[in-house]
Amino acid sequence: KENNSIFVDDLKEEGEKRPVPNPCRTFLDAFERYPEIMENIERVGFVKPTPIQSQAWPVLLSGEDLIAIAQTGTGKTLAYLLPGFIHMDGQPVPRAEQGGPGMLVLTPTRELALQIEMECKKYRYKSYKSLCIYGGGDRRGQINFVKGGVDIVIATPGRLNDLQMNDLISLSSITYLVLDEADRMLDMGFEPQIKKILLDIRPDRQNVMTSATWPTGVRRLASSYLKNPMMVYVGSLDL
Ligand code: ADP
Ligand code: MG
Repeated sequence: KENNSIFVDDLKEEGEKRPVPNPCRTFLDAFERYPEIMENIERVGFVKPTPIQSQAWPVLLSGEDLIAIAQTGTGKTLAYLLPGFIHMDGQPVPRAEQGGPGMLVLTPTRELALQIEMECKKYRYKSYKSLCIYGGGDRRGQINFVKGGVDIVIATPGRLNDLQMNDLISLSSITYLVLDEADRMLDMGFEPQIKKILLDIRPDRQNVMTSATWPTGVRRLASSYLKNPMMVYVGSLDL
């Protein structure tokens, strides 16, 4: 396996393997039907999708779960955010009537949460409101923001679990879940909080997991919580 190569695999354990969707070679391939997203990509000036994006978008837009394994800086944030916007838009009950967030991104640190929120704002879609929830942040402010209505929550597991245990946030409307940098979240000891958070999220959600590495702990998390995921990995990994 060569460096910088991209591999896609169907991790489904039973039955016939699904065909791997063709990668998109341009932004238009993936988002032709979403002019608002195309405009934002053009405004930012990106030339073409990164390898992980070109393979992740068709999988996620088809509604399948995804594991994306690639090093830092390979564009994983947009790989899951843009399909997440479209997912929320396509829900049978209109966003405004759901009374709670539709997308949750769990990420290991406050810095990452803030970076992801900046990307969210840059590609602002349908005026969806995003909120960062992290330890050390203004807890009361976070609670008030949740009450005012939020579409996208980007959170570290510890503080989100704290709000959840105190009935200060409802997770029942979430249908798109991202476990970002799963390997780091496990290294930081967040597994118990992640498990408690996932208990309150409906099982028929769509899941995305990203990681730079693919150790046993991450595999276990994936097989417990993802549903027949496709896996995309970039670079050479011992699999
Ligand atoms: P990762 O999560 O894989 O570490 P990020 O999503 O943070 O990577 O992306 C790293 C940087 O690359 C960000 O500044 C992001 O805006 C930029 N980026 C994302 N997609 C593209 C693209 N298609 N072309 C050029 N730059 C991109
Ligand atoms: Mg990232």
